[in-house]
Amino acid sequence: MASVVSAPAGVAVGPTKLLINNRWVTSKSGKTFPTLNPATGEEICQVAEADAADVDEAVKAARHAFEKGPWRTMSASERGKLMNKLADLIEKNADELAKIEALDNGKPYSVAKAADLPLTVACYRYYAGWADKIHGKTIPVNGPYFSYTRHEPIGVVAQIIPWNFPLLMQAWKLGPALAAGNTLILKPAEQTPLTALRVGELALEAGFPEGVVNILPGYGPTAGAALSHHWDVDKVAFTGSTEVGKLIMEAAAKTNLKRVTLELGGKSPNIVFADANMDEAIEGSHFALFFNQGQCCCAGSRLFVEEKCYDEFVEKSAARARKRTVGDPFDAKTEQGPQVDQDQFDKVMAYIDSGKKQGAKLMAGGSRVGDHGYFIQPTVFADVKDDMKIAQEEIFGPVMSIIKFRGIDEVVDRANKTMYGLAAAVWTRDIGKAHHIAHNVRAGTVWVNCYDVFDAAAPFGGFKQSGIGRELGEYGLQNYTEIKTVTVKL
Ligand code: NAP
Ligand code: MG
Repeated sequence: MASVVSAPAGVAVGPTKLLINNRWVTSKSGKTFPTLNPATGEEICQVAEADAADVDEAVKAARHAFEKGPWRTMSASERGKLMNKLADLIEKNADELAKIEALDNGKPYSVAKAADLPLTVACYRYYAGWADKIHGKTIPVNGPYFSYTRHEPIGVVAQIIPWNFPLLMQAWKLGPALAAGNTLILKPAEQTPLTALRVGELALEAGFPEGVVNILPGYGPTAGAALSHHWDVDKVAFTGSTEVGKLIMEAAAKTNLKRVTLELGGKSPNIVFADANMDEAIEGSHFALFFNQGQCCCAGSRLFVEEKCYDEFVEKSAARARKRTVGDPFDAKTEQGPQVDQDQFDKVMAYIDSGKKQGAKLMAGGSRVGDHGYFIQPTVFADVKDDMKIAQEEIFGPVMSIIKFRGIDEVVDRANKTMYGLAAAVWTRDIGKAHHIAHNVRAGTVWVNCYDVFDAAAPFGGFKQSGIGRELGEYGLQNYTEIKTVTVKL
């Protein structure tokens, strides 16, 4: 049985051990690590720390489950039923999960409840529906042969996720992997292991066979690296920084050429034309940047505003940021909680410092909030130049950079001058401008007069160094199957 620890906010945090082969176990080394409450910086509880030896054990379990377990031979519709059962259990425990997510990550509980939880449930349900709809084609080859394709699971899949949307990233990974019939080992981020483990417990309750879902909290350079270097892991799916994404590819290349999909960083252009509905553009751009404490891979962090509406936009955006409520994640009025940890806090404060030093105009915020926990004021810089650090690098925090532009061709060129290509948005009433931006900005997702609209059915992922492959939708599923051609002599 997993231990249940009582957390500071009175939230029962659920399991804190490793989940291997449907059993809760301590790590072989006996080591544990603390997970902290970002609102206070205090320890919530200790969690078992997996390393290479535990990875070996979990890979063995997942391999056995893939090759010999009932998972591969059960009807596809039965897999779908198990996944729907898991979705139902997550929905039933949504309130508790939202509380654990808020406690461990620092995001407002009300936001976790209204956004993270429903999107998580929807993702499992969407992929549950796919389980018995994954099929190949018959091919009209030359000669007396019958040729067809099968879409088979890849095998044992390692999934390494970040801390910004712990539950949702778990769903984006588990959903397509399970629907396609793979077995998996998930490594949650060291900062936020608790909801992943609770979902593991719900997977046991749903009745997944032994070894199908394994969950190993631990550190990236040990547990994460052991997974990406493992010779018996067939695929790694990773979400996180571009830097670590490159290490994952390198590990795959140096070992067994395991399949790699990557969802990495971004520096997404958000383009506002003067003909836009200004109130919607201002509120939408505020959301695009500040949602989730600014900790979104697709944050609209290069905010290009047309010269004709620039002054009004800057003034009103700064006023909106100053009104944003920062505070206790469990207070219903809170819009913004703390950054996830001391490292992220320091990194964001250093970017604010560099914006000031490089001559951007500070219009709002710029300091920490309070003297404990990792809270930062919603910060707005205007007159940002393309070559400033805050316009080039991923800040991953509540720092808006507003940049002036004059013409449409100019803004497309400047928007594309980045190594990233995850997302983009345009605000305009002119349908011609909207499509011009949508077709010419090199990014995996373009939003028109909206931002951060996600759906389990709509693919998401990056051009350029924002990643490889897509998650969600049918495209996401394709990254979890191998195509087999079968040819029969007639
Ligand atoms: P990160 O290091 O890329 O972490 C993401 C995941 O990869 C975590 O589970 C991490 O483990 C693991 N990892 C780290 N090193 C690894 C290695 N050598 N081999 C295998 N796995 C490894 O990201 P971070 O340090 O948390 O954040 C740094 C920056 O990355 C952020 O400031 C932001 O710019 C970007 N980021 C992007 C996303 C996104 O959604 N695309 C999400 C989070 C962060 P640990 O638990 O030990 O960290
Ligand atoms: Mg934590």
